[in-house]
Amino acid sequence: MRKKIFVRTYGCQMNVRDSEVICGLLRKEGYKFTDEVDKADIILFNTCSVRQHAEDKVWSQVGRFKNKKGTVLYENRPLIGIVGCIAQNYKEKIFEQAPNVDFVVGPSDIDKIPGIIKRIFRGQSPSGTVPSTLFEMKIWETDGDSRPEEIYHTGFYEDKEHAYVVISEGCSNFCSYCVVPYVRGPLRNRGYKDILKEIEEAIDKGITKITLLGQNVNAYKSQSQCVSLPEGDKVTMSQVNFIDLLKIINGIKGLKEFSFITSHPKDTAIELFKAMEDCAKLKKYLHLPVQSGSDRILKLMNRGYNRKFYLDLINNYRKIVKGGQVTTDIIVGFPTETQNDFQDTYDLVKNVQFNAAFIFKYSPRPNTQAANMVDDVLKSEKEKRHRLILELQKGISKEYAKSGY
Ligand code: SAM
Ligand code: SF4
Repeated sequence: MRKKIFVRTYGCQMNVRDSEVICGLLRKEGYKFTDEVDKADIILFNTCSVRQHAEDKVWSQVGRFKNKKGTVLYENRPLIGIVGCIAQNYKEKIFEQAPNVDFVVGPSDIDKIPGIIKRIFRGQSPSGTVPSTLFEMKIWETDGDSRPEEIYHTGFYEDKEHAYVVISEGCSNFCSYCVVPYVRGPLRNRGYKDILKEIEEAIDKGITKITLLGQNVNAYKSQSQCVSLPEGDKVTMSQVNFIDLLKIINGIKGLKEFSFITSHPKDTAIELFKAMEDCAKLKKYLHLPVQSGSDRILKLMNRGYNRKFYLDLINNYRKIVKGGQVTTDIIVGFPTETQNDFQDTYDLVKNVQFNAAFIFKYSPRPNTQAANMVDDVLKSEKEKRHRLILELQKGISKEYAKSGY
């Protein structure tokens, strides 16, 4: 009988796309999927490590599948795999924390999942021999540094009309609070011909809307020589940057609408806004995380811009991209954040009038620079600051909703 797989995804759109890629690879191998966790032979948790809260949710779910004595017995429970950012962050230490987990796979090793599952069902240890100890039955793959391009071409998309398309993996910015560079590795740009091939294949499958994904899409740069436009023309380009890519994608036949996330303010410029205004199929939507309105905190966060730079960007965006929407991310309670620093963030939110804002309470992440600072803003104070900005933003979003914007 065909084995059934249940996949639960935590975190960002990048993880949503990774889960789809994993499902595409496993479908090709003949596995079936189920939405009912209790009917699954294999459970995959595609995890997020960006905040402590995201990790806690995963651990409590994984704990549900321990058998009574906490021992490892395949007959009594499904195979459990931890994939993604938690896998990369904790590697084989996961087996100590959660002995019921059978395999651990980092984001750059997801292409190996079908092989790992096969090996476990064949009862083989990583060395290919029959395991002699429980620990030997565990498999972990967390050393990969790049993904094979083929994984993006399984042709499987959860949605019939919309597809996420990864344009770059990893991040080299090292914002002081952020675990992403440690769990997803340095920035790697996909070749633009590969990206275009994936989009064209998706359109052949009926997809009409695309979201381009990357941690900092504006930093996209691809080395290449010659590109064929959908109309059949050829143009030579020594290097394709993000704006070139937007213009090329805008010309793809059959594509009705596209957008991108996420933009980093330090790499965002007027040229992007002009391209957004000029590309008819590009959604007039910009997610531009500010994180803080205080120059002192922005410096400690290693964000590479200040408050004035950010506000100027927003002014230019609104001048150039007529009717454009803008959303943001904010962290409250970063180490040493004073009442005045918080007030700067509050005032910025009031001043900018974002269409929506995602507000997070700071939590220290392993390996990051900020984890060496004392997490000195009290939990109750973080909660208060979180609530205050949330309320402010709710009022702003309500006004937009009333005006139908
Ligand atoms: N690459 C994007 C950027 O630079 O804005 C976002 C990456 S991160 C996956 C999504 C959001 O999580 C960040 O914008 C930030 O607001 C939040 N975040 C990251 N690390 C955090 C931490 N240690 N504590 C609280 N929030 C955090
Ligand atoms: Fe993390 Fe900063 Fe990279 Fe975004 S830009 S993923 S916040 S390090």
